[in-house]
Amino acid sequence: MWKIFVGHFTLGAFLSKHGIKGVRCPHCASYVENMWHVFWSCPHIQRWWNTLFLIPIWSVKSTKFDATFLLFDCTNSVVNWIKGRCIFLLLRNIWMLRNFKMFKTKMQTPIFSWQYCKAQLRLDIMGMAPTERAPFAALLNEI
Ligand SMILES: [Zn+2]
Repeated sequence: MWKIFVGHFTLGAFLSKHGIKGVRCPHCASYVENMWHVFWSCPHIQRWWNTLFLIPIWSVKSTKFDATFLLFDCTNSVVNWIKGRCIFLLLRNIWMLRNFKMFKTKMQTPIFSWQYCKAQLRLDIMGMAPTERAPFAALLNEI
């Protein structure tokens, strides 16, 4: 997430400053590829963000990408952990799909869904110390 916010990715907008013109969004081909478009505003990507906000852990839906951090509730670390992991999985999926389409990489991108997030979260919880697992597993079973 930090790399995205500081613009640490080589995208079409960056390449065009260095003489490589015409790199378009690999999803819609309608826009020059830039950070804002690739991770947030592309209609193909907005569908995934909408899927994320369907997960019943959010009390509000972010309307701006740079306001995503405001979604975290500072009172419940277990909820925040689930939110953070789901956002991470979404951003990772967006980046994997972008690279799959852009570079024809062989790595298939999983479909982003709550079932996918839940399966990943269960694996994360299994990797925790047995004494720490209980509140995470309990909350995951409730959602
Ligand atoms: Zn696009």
